[in-house]
Amino acid sequence: MSLLSIQNLHKSYGDTRIFSDINCEIGQGEFVTLLGPSGCGKSTLLRCIAGLTDVDGGRIVLGGEDLIPLPPQKRGIGMVFQSYALFPNMSVAQNVAFGLRMQKVAKAESEQRVREALEMVELGDFAARYPHQLSGGQCQRVALARSLVTRPRLLLLDEPLSALDARIRKHLREQIRAIQQELNLTTIFVTHDQEEALTMSDRIFLMNAGQIVQSGDAETLYTAPVDAFAAGFIGNYNLLEADAASRLLGQPVSSRVAIRPEAIAFAGSGIAARIISRSLLGNVIRYRVEAEGCQLLVDVLNRSADDLHHDGQSVSLAIGADAIREVA
Ligand code: ADP
Repeated sequence: MSLLSIQNLHKSYGDTRIFSDINCEIGQGEFVTLLGPSGCGKSTLLRCIAGLTDVDGGRIVLGGEDLIPLPPQKRGIGMVFQSYALFPNMSVAQNVAFGLRMQKVAKAESEQRVREALEMVELGDFAARYPHQLSGGQCQRVALARSLVTRPRLLLLDEPLSALDARIRKHLREQIRAIQQELNLTTIFVTHDQEEALTMSDRIFLMNAGQIVQSGDAETLYTAPVDAFAAGFIGNYNLLEADAASRLLGQPVSSRVAIRPEAIAFAGSGIAARIISRSLLGNVIRYRVEAEGCQLLVDVLNRSADDLHHDGQSVSLAIGADAIREVA
């Protein structure tokens, strides 16, 4: 049975419809990511679940309880924002204790729980510091501890890593995932970053223009995009119209196709192509090639200098039949 059930949820701002008819079920302990471009409605959906934004229709049920009549503080939900939203005039420990003070938890228990929460985010030694004495990543860990300490039934994370630099972001996403699994805490994570979504989630809900266009685990979303939007948003697919695909593949194709860049290989013989440019992405070299009037991206592992092709060079391409996906 699902912990969170969202049924026929509607939301407009004035005449602008943000989403209509959102439906989803999330199980106890699941880590679900809402992934989609900026403005597609991810934060609004999260804020509706938290009770920070009113809905126009539909139901949100958590553990069998209808959330819509409840104010945010009665929902048993923790939320972390991109901006940390720490109180600057309070110490780390006071920030983390804030929710417990609101719940009138006794002092000794509160101190114990604050200590535990800070240890969980590896900030046990930082209790007496103030937010201005912390790095961005540390501030976000305080914000996380402040949510965890209230023992929420559901944790909502709204782009919590987006303001941090790449190295910290990677570390923190592993830390969040580890804590979430240790606590078996049902979590909804919002991001526009496909790598974050693919690496962290049990399940991804891909959103576009106020709709969930596809849901599934990372492998499903990566290997079987349902439409051109999904293919374009996840994994740099090459998208070809039917006539271009027919020319390239030398056989009739009736719909648009998506081909992943790493599913195309340079081969001794095959489809004649020419290198337009190349860029080094670290362990991968990404070539832009031209073949049969189509431009394609080709990703190959960066193994040795001998493998390098130069701009203008003629090459042959091999494309595995199973790598070619028809998309709507
Ligand atoms: P995302 O989180 O996917 O970037 P949002 O949920 O923040 O998207 O926003 C979805 C749409 O709702 C956007 O077009 C945004 O401009 C609009 N929107 C968000 N908040 C408000 C508001 N308070 N009033 C009017 N429009 C809003």
